[in-house]
Amino acid sequence: MATVQLNQLKKVYDKDVVAIKGADVTINDKEFVVLVGPSGCGKSTLLRMIAGLEEISGGDLMIDGDRVNDLSPKDRDIAMVFQNYALYPHMTVFENMAFGLKLRKYPKAEIKARVEEAAGFLGLTEYLERRPKEMSGGQRQRVAIGRALVRQPKVFLFDEPLSNLDAKLRVQMRIEIKRLHQQLQATMIYVTHDQIEAMTMGDKIVVLKDGVVQQVDSPMNLFNNPSNKFVAGFIGSPSMNFLNGTIEQGNELKFVAGSVSFGIPNELQLREKLSPFVGKPVTFGFRPEYLYDKSTERQVQLSVDMNITIDVTEPIGSEAFNYFHFAGMEDQTYCFRSSSANQYQSGQKVEVGIDINRLRFFDGETEARIA
Ligand code: ADP
Repeated sequence: MATVQLNQLKKVYDKDVVAIKGADVTINDKEFVVLVGPSGCGKSTLLRMIAGLEEISGGDLMIDGDRVNDLSPKDRDIAMVFQNYALYPHMTVFENMAFGLKLRKYPKAEIKARVEEAAGFLGLTEYLERRPKEMSGGQRQRVAIGRALVRQPKVFLFDEPLSNLDAKLRVQMRIEIKRLHQQLQATMIYVTHDQIEAMTMGDKIVVLKDGVVQQVDSPMNLFNNPSNKFVAGFIGSPSMNFLNGTIEQGNELKFVAGSVSFGIPNELQLREKLSPFVGKPVTFGFRPEYLYDKSTERQVQLSVDMNITIDVTEPIGSEAFNYFHFAGMEDQTYCFRSSSANQYQSGQKVEVGIDINRLRFFDGETEARIA
């Protein structure tokens, strides 16, 4: 098995398009690492550089301590699963899965044994003589995974493998790939633009934006301790609410944004961290799930409180997403996630609180997290 290290890895395409601006990431043996970010952030480029399908413009790519920048894809002992499956239509499932091994001149008996084992693993045994067009999208994706499995590579790469599947099948395949990882104990690198896929699958997540690694962390650390506003807004659904304002020093240190104003609590070194920002733009971030209704819900000891007006309520079963605005700021909509036991009406005024542990602040200029 394998450790993969990216040291200041860079990619510059023709016409000086800088797709990756120097990525430093360590992927440990047996780890499931997800590369996530919006379209165009460079995640496929990064994966293709690891696979050897894209030339590396700078930095070092190390596999198990060896620099492999100049090794051809076939010599890297890596197998990749593509979004569009990339199956040969005229070949049967067996032939598709066997193809890579045949090219590498494996003995027939060994090929048969490996394909049958992988087919058993993926529930494809009874489909081995079918052709791809006689199979569903989910089955085709399994064949594509099977083709990677039979190679028994050091590292598995997945490039948005589930994006062509419908929502239900996507959840099912997500669980299957996770189980595959647990059983194989292999190093896997997985690309997706879907933050929920990233959160549910990754041991470790690499968040990318504009070719720059924003944060490398566990799913829960990304959620609780985002290093900047981009990560805070990208991870979590519905997204974190952001309110742009300033820090002011009157009788007390305050955050002020239009009609919203609250004193900065003395706890958690919040005043210490925010006082250098007096007079400067600061973004206050608060997650929809951390607001609570002061009149009906369990109170927390130390909270910051605000008055909101509900605009629209979306019940989704056990809970509801309530969209609201602050007084005089009708053009900005925020989200409050409540238990469906609280049924709000459009126009209703609610006093909400937030546990001070849940307050997040970002530098209005650099977007770096302050507190
Ligand atoms: P993602 O996978 O996150 O959507 P990509 O890695 O495909 O992003 O692309 C990253 C950036 O590199 C984008 O700006 C894209 O337009 C650019 N890019 C990708 N492939 C090429 C190419 N072959 N030539 C020039 N620019 C490219």
